[in-house]
Amino acid sequence: MEYKKPLLFSPKTWICAIFDHRFEVSQNITDHIKEYQCTRCGEEMTDTAQGFIAKLTPKFRETNAYIAEIHQRRCSKKFFEKKRAFQGFLKFTPE
Ligand SMILES: [Zn+2]
Repeated sequence: MEYKKPLLFSPKTWICAIFDHRFEVSQNITDHIKEYQCTRCGEEMTDTAQGFIAKLTPKFRETNAYIAEIHQRRCSKKFFEKKRAFQGFLKFTPE
């Protein structure tokens, strides 16, 4: 298909308006909260702490960044505990 005439709006947005967005996970905030981006028009959505999906506004982006920071801190703590446990396990491995 060719578009020779100038369009009033982007063909990508036009496709999304008809077929709906094609969202892919763009960022994992936590196991339950993810950010999504439409692969066609770039529209962004996010899971919210309340369990519904909303348009990714600057406010949500800020909240997600904050949640991600707390989550990462928790995960890295868990990671170090696991690593320590694993190293302890290695000491007792007969090899
Ligand atoms: Zn879209």
